[in-house]
Amino acid sequence: MKNTSVSTGEAHLKEMFRVSDNLRYQQCLNNKCQATFGIEQALFSCPACGDLLDARYNWDKLDVPDSLSWFEKRWATRNNPLDFSGVWRFRELLPFCDEQYCVTIGEGQTLLQQNDGVGNYVDIAAGKVYLQYEGMNPSGSFKDNGMTGAFSHAKMVGAKHAICASTGNTSASLALYAHSCGMKGSVFIGSGRIAYGKLSQALDYGARTIQVKGDFDDCMRQVKEVAAREKLYLVNSLNPFRLEGQKTIMFRVLEKLNWQVPDWIIVPGGNLGNSSAFGKAFMELKELGLIDKIPRLAIINATGANTLFDLYENIGVRFNGGDVDNETIDAYFAKLDAENYRPKTIATAIEISRPVNLKKCLRALEVCNGVVREVSDEDILHAKAIIGKHGLGCEPASAASVAGLKRLREQGIIDTNESAVCILTGHQLKDPSVTVNYHIEAETTFSNKPIEVENDIDAIIEKLRH
Ligand SMILES: *Cc1c(COP(=O)(O)O)cnc(C)c1O
Ligand SMILES: [Zn+2]
Repeated sequence: MKNTSVSTGEAHLKEMFRVSDNLRYQQCLNNKCQATFGIEQALFSCPACGDLLDARYNWDKLDVPDSLSWFEKRWATRNNPLDFSGVWRFRELLPFCDEQYCVTIGEGQTLLQQNDGVGNYVDIAAGKVYLQYEGMNPSGSFKDNGMTGAFSHAKMVGAKHAICASTGNTSASLALYAHSCGMKGSVFIGSGRIAYGKLSQALDYGARTIQVKGDFDDCMRQVKEVAAREKLYLVNSLNPFRLEGQKTIMFRVLEKLNWQVPDWIIVPGGNLGNSSAFGKAFMELKELGLIDKIPRLAIINATGANTLFDLYENIGVRFNGGDVDNETIDAYFAKLDAENYRPKTIATAIEISRPVNLKKCLRALEVCNGVVREVSDEDILHAKAIIGKHGLGCEPASAASVAGLKRLREQGIIDTNESAVCILTGHQLKDPSVTVNYHIEAETTFSNKPIEVENDIDAIIEKLRH
């Protein structure tokens, strides 16, 4: 990622992309640049310095409700598809496009489940642990919250062909939205490392599926280049409008808590889009005076893909109000490249070592006084089994949130009386082979092995009575 100072040539670029509508615009995250661009541009990175872009609003000139409970009136009008959508019913808080462009397939009908079984496992008091189950989305993961935002922007700019790199769920979601709004959709996946449930969706929903001989990080590099060269619409989470949609996961959590802010939000970290979106959501709610407290954020890496943990907790990289130490980050990635480092974890959705939203995520950590932890695949699998047994089930990456909560509790960072919301990012059926393998290995702590029996009624009954 390039950045630092803006030369005169780049100043000319700023001029070219001058903001046309001062109600809503895009702005570069790099505080040495801060270039602004029209909302109707499909850019995906700052043309002046290459850094990430944010969707920004002039809230004073927009119609924003003066309390979060205002949104409750939409419950009565849910025959309107936009009021039914768990994303667009909060549209005043992501006002980047006019209603005529909003795409919805009924995303965001999710559940916040209070769960004492999981609470007990992580040693948190009764009534204090919640699971936000994003597996209930149309494509079975939280990605739909973002995709509805990205596709609405795509429609607004007249895009015809959407493209992404994916560890699986992004491609499933892209495929579903592309075909439902008549756009062409293509997905890049790495060879081998994709859960079958997710691959089956991309194929079934008719996406052109390009299997690149490499891993996710390779796919990500290629897709950025391809999107720029072929002028295709990129829907990876560096697309700022995807993150706008993902803010609503937090709005729905607050809605279910009767607009009370919990003490902690715990989320797995891969490309760091979700954590970035959550930070932006709370930053804006606070700025708008719609909440009086910001929850703390815990982002959980898998040990085998722990770039954020390393940079934030070991090396001490911080957002610094937008003055990020890019040299340290660039040197870190150069070292990964030099070693030809490849991340590896059973939680394939977070098997990413070059997270594109790193800097936005650092901002989220600053806004939410956040922490980062890493958890082993073994911890993830045990936590997943506990979630399955007591809750709604989830895919491996999602369980990193509960494994991380357990770790933070053991370390005394989180108190037993604090409330914590774990984001279950993906559906239980996304990756059934991991689940089945865990349970048929009898030695594992929480496994539930199938019982083999002779085809004989007495033998069968005998097993049931035991
Ligand atoms: C994409 C994904 C993640 C990672 O989210 P980021 O926003 O990329 O950090 C985690 N879990 C599941 C199930 C996912 O699909
Ligand atoms: Zn810039």
